[in-house]
Amino acid sequence: MPILYLGLGGTIACTLGPDHLARSTLGAEQLLGQAGRPADVVAEDGGMAASSDLTFADLLAVAARIRRAFEDEGYTGCVLSQGTDTIEEVAYTLHLLQAWPHPVVITGAMRHADLPGKDGPANLQDAMAVARAGEAAGLGVLVVMGGEIHGAAAVTKSHSQSPATFVSPDWGPLGLVAEGRVLIARRPSASPILPATEIRARVNLIRVALDCDPALVEAALGADGLVLEGTGGGHLPARLTPLLARAAERGTVVAVTSRTGSGPSLRHTYGAAGAEADLQRLGILMADGPGLKVRIRLTLALSLSPRPDLGSVLAAWL
Ligand code: ASP
Repeated sequence: MPILYLGLGGTIACTLGPDHLARSTLGAEQLLGQAGRPADVVAEDGGMAASSDLTFADLLAVAARIRRAFEDEGYTGCVLSQGTDTIEEVAYTLHLLQAWPHPVVITGAMRHADLPGKDGPANLQDAMAVARAGEAAGLGVLVVMGGEIHGAAAVTKSHSQSPATFVSPDWGPLGLVAEGRVLIARRPSASPILPATEIRARVNLIRVALDCDPALVEAALGADGLVLEGTGGGHLPARLTPLLARAAERGTVVAVTSRTGSGPSLRHTYGAAGAEADLQRLGILMADGPGLKVRIRLTLALSLSPRPDLGSVLAAWL
């Protein structure tokens, strides 16, 4: 059964130039060659952008390409390689757009192709093994790096350099790839499907720091939605709440999650101004999960018509 391999640039595709700086130069066909060129995989180039340049429009185009591969071209799995910097956002966006009938697996590399110990070919081989594995279907979009299989909802890049950078903070990886064998240890709970065909909403994200400047929050409120990563269980400085309450009243969706990067936010523990009870009373929604992923859920939800229940979408982080 054929697997489609889409190469999207990133470190896995980088080689050193005459200036000794790494840039994406290797196409999907060359990368497949480094990974043993299996006969059941067809390589296709999807672009060479640094992953920090990707947009939601790019991701909708990738989703459309994968959909066509599964529905019209007989592919039974898809592997995507890209820059690791935004893998967690790409994986989660694709994960929410559709309940994919076959495995969709994303990988990359932390060491470029001209470094000793380059991890790209091994990661690509592991990703192809997962894309072929029947038991990987129905798990949503997966990230395979360093021999581990992570679910899109939980995975995050945790280290700027380490090949073991990808972790799933609350729950750990879903499984492993060992000697090409795919071992799935647990299946994640179902995520909501938010099948946006066009991105119609702009949602900003702010990490709230001690003594956060209200001008920053004010500037961000021009969008359709604002996600704030608050302190601890999802708390804001009380001096920010009047302006957020006014924005919520005018129709901007304001959601608060925790900046800790793991665990849900609170709903009814603390009574201080700026804590969860006060925020909800002012029309601010409590959200669960890292801000990067809450922002994606809210962006897709606000792009749908009719709009799904935002309380459930913002709580659906597992
Ligand atoms: N800067 C690269 C990127 O496009 C980093 C990587 O691939 O790891 O995300």
